[in-house]
Amino acid sequence: MIFTQTRFSSWEELENAIKHCTRCPLHRSRKNAVPGEGPKDARAMLIGEAPGATEDELGRPFVGAAGRLLTMSLESIGLPRSSVYITNVVKCRPPGNREPREEEIEACSPYLESQILLLKPIVIVTLGNVAGKWVFTRAGMKWGGVTRMRGKVYEVNLLGLKLSVVPTIHPAAALYNPSLRSTLIEDLRRAKEVLEKGGSAQESSGRGTKSLLDYLKKK
Ligand code: SF4
Repeated sequence: MIFTQTRFSSWEELENAIKHCTRCPLHRSRKNAVPGEGPKDARAMLIGEAPGATEDELGRPFVGAAGRLLTMSLESIGLPRSSVYITNVVKCRPPGNREPREEEIEACSPYLESQILLLKPIVIVTLGNVAGKWVFTRAGMKWGGVTRMRGKVYEVNLLGLKLSVVPTIHPAAALYNPSLRSTLIEDLRRAKEVLEKGGSAQESSGRGTKSLLDYLKKK
């Protein structure tokens, strides 16, 4: 089921629901659910696949080795991690870091949908195939795999929001294959350019856009 309106009236309510969620079997093996983190007025949202062992331990997204690579990549292009909102398609760690199952993704999807509706980002960066497929499918577009899809900015209508999507590889792929690190940085730079232009699109209901530089000045 796809929501076009968040059923959570606040971030606090949403995060609380995630932390206590038992909607799928992943809750049985988790130490901590990982809702996501970042400013609640961030203009960029990064979506990965699922928490790993360190994330499960700490209850924070992208804090393991792949997360450190992502953070460094963001910093290297002048887009501080503290300026973006980071989350995953599923909020609890799949055992052994296996890929989340379809039914787990479906059970968890209302949370990510609600996060997108609350945040109303200008640009979404999808990290890897699971996140790319989730976003493109919900935007009514065909997902052709990250290798084919990356390298471009897509203008989409997602849950009633017009926004840009930049698909890229998962940082874990760049961690294990250093030749892919420039690919990750190149795509993140593409997302930064969207922010600097103020976004190519706006929410149907009329949220204004703001440049990254304006946003950073406020910090
Ligand atoms: S993965 Fe999502 S749906 Fe499953 S228990 Fe965790 S928060 Fe709930």
